[in-house]
Amino acid sequence: MDQFDVDLFVIGGGSGGVRAARIAAGHGAKVKLAEEYRLGGTCVIRGCVPKKLFVYAARFAHEFEDAAGFGWSVENVRFDWATLVANKDKEIARLEGAYRANLVRAGVEIVAQRASIEGPHAVRLADGTQVTARTILIATGGRPNRGLDFPGCELGISSNEIFDLERFPERILIQGAGYIALEFASLLAGLGAKVTVIHRGDRLLRGFDEDIRARIVDEMAQNGVEFAFNVTIEGIYQEGSEKRVRLNDGRDLFADEVMLAIGRVPNTIGLGLDTVEVHLDEAGAIAVDDHARTNIHSIYAVGDVTNRVNLTPVAIREGHAFADTVFGKRPWHVSYDNIPTAVFTEPEIGTVGLTEQEARAQGRRLDIYQTDFRPLKATLSGRTSRVFMKIVVDQADDRVLGVHLIGEGSGEMVQMAAIAMNVGATKADFDRTMALHPSSAEELVTLRSKHTTSDPLPEASTEATPAL
Ligand SMILES: Cc1cc2nc3c(=O)[nH]c(=O)nc-3n(C[C@H](O)[C@H](O)[C@H](O)COP(=O)(O)OP(=O)(O)OC[C@H]3O[C@@H](n4cnc5c(N)ncnc54)[C@H](O)[C@@H]3O)c2cc1C
Repeated sequence: MDQFDVDLFVIGGGSGGVRAARIAAGHGAKVKLAEEYRLGGTCVIRGCVPKKLFVYAARFAHEFEDAAGFGWSVENVRFDWATLVANKDKEIARLEGAYRANLVRAGVEIVAQRASIEGPHAVRLADGTQVTARTILIATGGRPNRGLDFPGCELGISSNEIFDLERFPERILIQGAGYIALEFASLLAGLGAKVTVIHRGDRLLRGFDEDIRARIVDEMAQNGVEFAFNVTIEGIYQEGSEKRVRLNDGRDLFADEVMLAIGRVPNTIGLGLDTVEVHLDEAGAIAVDDHARTNIHSIYAVGDVTNRVNLTPVAIREGHAFADTVFGKRPWHVSYDNIPTAVFTEPEIGTVGLTEQEARAQGRRLDIYQTDFRPLKATLSGRTSRVFMKIVVDQADDRVLGVHLIGEGSGEMVQMAAIAMNVGATKADFDRTMALHPSSAEELVTLRSKHTTSDPLPEASTEATPAL
């Protein structure tokens, strides 16, 4: 050991910070990690994990309804919000404990305090203690954007609060058009709430394939979600136990809760970045190179605070690559190609690779294969929801550039498609893969006719009638 208290000081105990701390300690580094709230960070405490538990809860609603067509009578079905929240809390506490145990086992010292940077090698803790470190890693994540400024905007809640509401919101307005807004719209509707999504534009899910963007509105509407497009909120007023929401088209809507889900911003405030002049980009995120290093030689950053691809597996891998590179003498960096993404709406979206629009913007000539069919389960359940699949193929070399899906199991399917795409699968490789029947996924390997915008969609098919 030399003049520093530790080899590595990690600020933030979320997905990226925990992985980096654990791996660096495994490489023999002396590591301290500061977390100001709860270990596990956004994903575990108030993001992916509790959200997916709520998604599971909501999906029972459809299962109960669909069961009738299969001969079941499901009577006196009741949902209890307090039970769901309490059980979710228990699981989150268990996971938080597992994160703590893993860090301790790896030899990381955990400091349950806020930390900020005081110099290229110095961190100041909330209790006033100074810690010196050879290397500092910033992994402070992001937070909901509260950048709205209308009367009563403080009455709106964000995804942070929604997980722990004491009372189930029977009527909720959700402002936003990103995946968090839509996932909560779907799951709350599934749990029985009257949900209205308010959006200043008329297209949801910016950055997704245009066919997915168009179809998800109809699908969610069929599942009871209402949409108010091309409007914004002008004011929220508490009136007794309800909130009156004034829209800019003059309408008043009434709700128990208003959720503002207008994006997330990097957590850089109060971190002392200006004292050491760490560069930020125009979005306020920490600017880093391929190895997560900032403009200050001893300071690195990973995860949402760098605003590259704001997903848990990406933050984890960035933390891992940082630790191997700086402490393990094994330099590598993260590939951002073919990152699979799910949106846990009802129905679910799964997407990987280039959208048709992105691929065309790169000047590529494309073959598009797509299908839209009624899944086998719907033949007895009577549900009208359809499955949509689209494969984007480069005409030049037959490589699959993108896969875009809506329907049950899309997230699981697209994870597998991502493996194929990472090894450079062509459409011919998809075609020579034997179908798994009966499944929705088999359609991905049985799509034969090219779709052009002037062509009608291929004949609607079902899992029961695979292409012969
Ligand atoms: C509602 C919601 C749903 C999501 N769903 C998904 C999903 O399904 N799949 C997916 O891949 N991603 C999802 N995400 C995104 C995912 O949660 C993030 O990409 C991921 O958590 C980023 O990890 P991170 O380590 O960068 O930051 P975080 O996990 O946010 O961790 C940062 C930690 O730093 C702490 N901290 C901040 N400042 C300080 C300080 N000064 N001192 C000490 N501690 C500090 C914070 O308390 C926090 O614990 C979701 C996010 C939200 C909000």
